[in-house]
Amino acid sequence: MPVHSTLDLSGDSLLYADPAEVQRLRDPLVAEQVQLLARHHPYYRQVLAGGDPGQVRGVADLDRLPVTGKQDFLADPEAFRLAPPDRLPVEERTLAYLIYTTGTTSGAPAPLYITTSDDWAYLLHARRCARMLGLESTDVIANLFPLTPFPMGARIRADRTAAAVGASIFQGHTGRGSAAWPVHRRLDEAIDLVLAHRATVLWGVAGFVRRVLIRAAERQLRLPSVRWCFVTGEATSDAGLDDLRARLSAVGAPQARVANRYGSTEGWSMIACADGHGWHNPTPELVHLAVVDPVTHQPLPDGETGLLLISHLRARGTAFLRYAVGDLVALTRQTCPSCGRTAERIVSQPVRTKDLVKVNGTLVNLGVLGDALVDLPGVAEYRVILDHRKPGDTFSGDGILVEFAPVAGADPDPVASAVRERIRELAHLTPQVRVAAADEIYDPAADAKPRRLIDRRPTG
Ligand SMILES: [Zn+2]
Repeated sequence: MPVHSTLDLSGDSLLYADPAEVQRLRDPLVAEQVQLLARHHPYYRQVLAGGDPGQVRGVADLDRLPVTGKQDFLADPEAFRLAPPDRLPVEERTLAYLIYTTGTTSGAPAPLYITTSDDWAYLLHARRCARMLGLESTDVIANLFPLTPFPMGARIRADRTAAAVGASIFQGHTGRGSAAWPVHRRLDEAIDLVLAHRATVLWGVAGFVRRVLIRAAERQLRLPSVRWCFVTGEATSDAGLDDLRARLSAVGAPQARVANRYGSTEGWSMIACADGHGWHNPTPELVHLAVVDPVTHQPLPDGETGLLLISHLRARGTAFLRYAVGDLVALTRQTCPSCGRTAERIVSQPVRTKDLVKVNGTLVNLGVLGDALVDLPGVAEYRVILDHRKPGDTFSGDGILVEFAPVAGADPDPVASAVRERIRELAHLTPQVRVAAADEIYDPAADAKPRRLIDRRPTG
């Protein structure tokens, strides 16, 4: 269906438009998408059977549709692929490529099918994100995502972002090497490329970018050309972002900024215009956000924290409606006092629902515990392990073991005391602390990202 609007979708005017005008643009897209999925999408054909998809005439009617959980998608990813009818334009029917989600609890990453038009939609999205961040065609991006057996969405999207803005990009291609396919680079080789190309943007998983900066400092290298760090793939707290800023300063890039973005493979990226004003939806004509009560799935008013739901309005490959990525957030539709954009914003620090667990009966946000030591002086790598005090014995209570690797040359004893104190403050439990080698905790040659927090307590 052609998109009719007086707004210029190639630019940013949509982000400052009257919300009523944006809704006039979205309503027919919502109606078309729901009808298309009800007929030609295996999962929604089943879920919406018996209802009348014609009753969904716009954004206001989306509440009538059920919530789709991440587990629904992971259980049968193929059922989420639209079988596009022949009447659609060729770019909406043609498979362009596949990407995979990471970090699923079941272990198997799930594929997302990207048609040509989905790719073009992402190019529009990436261009808007880039303009919000100030990423330019003159930038040189170090793509530091690992080369993984399942092509990682984040790595491919970094490439598509460079393509969207006309920037240069090169590949670190680190990751788990194999004798049969000797194509991976070592950490130091990736760092050498950052130097050789005078990269202006370091883009990767937060824990790996951190390791690059630690290693560059150990080698006494200077990276003054770096002006941006884009980090993703794991939760990044304010402490984690501050730690990256300090490490950038240590390699001669004190001017470099760390982009504060919120995103997921399924949900794309939301961008902060300034600290304290939340994350903007850069493409309201492509992505719709809503927040519902996590239990009843009833819509919540602006400002109340609930389950974030994402609907893609023009997806033609893998397609979701009211998809819960698993994060709790609050939304607002009020004009941003900082930048004047009118599109919806996430205004609370997202909390992963899977991170909310009970430790000795108290609800603890594991995201906070996993980020607990990232900025502690003297700590190079670390992980926090939750287990029963007597492993296997549910009734022995919960215990915490912290393993850390001190930075080169640091005396481990005072660092261990500081580690113990920090965890006690956050979890109200005194942890056992053990010194380990950095690669024993996180080996960038073996793992795509560090596992900062491991819960060994049996579930159920
Ligand atoms: Zn703003």
